[in-house]
Amino acid sequence: QATMNGTVALVTGGSRGIGAATAVRLAREGADVALTYVRDKEAACDVVDRIRALGRRALALRADSADAEEAAGAVERAVAGLGRLDVLVNNAGVGLLGPLDSLSLADVDRVLAVNVRGVFLASQAAASRMERGGRIITIGTCMTQRVPGPGGTLYATGKSALVGLTKALARELGERGITANIVHPGPIDTDMNPADGPYAGGQAAMTAVGRFGTVEEVASAVAYLAGAEASYVTGAEFSVDGGHAA
Ligand code: NDP
Repeated sequence: QATMNGTVALVTGGSRGIGAATAVRLAREGADVALTYVRDKEAACDVVDRIRALGRRALALRADSADAEEAAGAVERAVAGLGRLDVLVNNAGVGLLGPLDSLSLADVDRVLAVNVRGVFLASQAAASRMERGGRIITIGTCMTQRVPGPGGTLYATGKSALVGLTKALARELGERGITANIVHPGPIDTDMNPADGPYAGGQAAMTAVGRFGTVEEVASAVAYLAGAEASYVTGAEFSVDGGHAA
């Protein structure tokens, strides 16, 4: 039984990985879905085809979250194309890890532009468009709970800012009936973090269940938070990390 019939969702970075799985899952729940991408137009169009095959409307928008105008503009384009906006999933992110010494000023600017500023601006634009029942769901990381080793300074800095943003959005938007929550994935098998990559074994060992998660396992939590059943959940951090933080 589809519960999100008549709603519209925007998923940033929806061409691959967690964002693509989330876009398809929300369509399965009944939502029409807009998704952003930057590089992989073909992958974005594949996701659009999968959503249309489910009988829902879909839109692929080329919008770079690193660009302030494009980050906020994606919200306006989604509303223009699909008529309204009920759910924003802030998923687009740069997974740049490395020793403190190796991180350049350009790295700092890029990671903060995509992982923090773009999320702030998209959330701001979305909040101004959403009606009662609106949902802002942000993808954080298990590294905001526990940084398991060196190399995470920049990434953890940016993602941790999203926890503050989420709690403050919950307070600001609560009276309007709009919720804001953050999902913290553990190691999830994607292009960014392949389960057969050089650091995969160590990451799997740090979870309680001893394995990587799937994109569908994250999408499932996002779908719950996006749905009507999560109406009393706001300002919350939601780990989908196989026990990484346990
Ligand atoms: P992928 O690299 O597999 O996919 C990233 C997606 O985001 C692609 O669709 C990509 O589009 C898009 N994207 C990248 N940069 C931008 C940008 N500047 N503007 C718009 N879209 C962009 O990543 P994951 O699916 O692994 O990660 C998704 C989110 O989950 C990220 O925020 C990441 O930090 C977080 N996360 C991931 C974990 C993991 O283990 N995989 C663990 C914890 C958190 P394009 O096709 O244009 O490249």
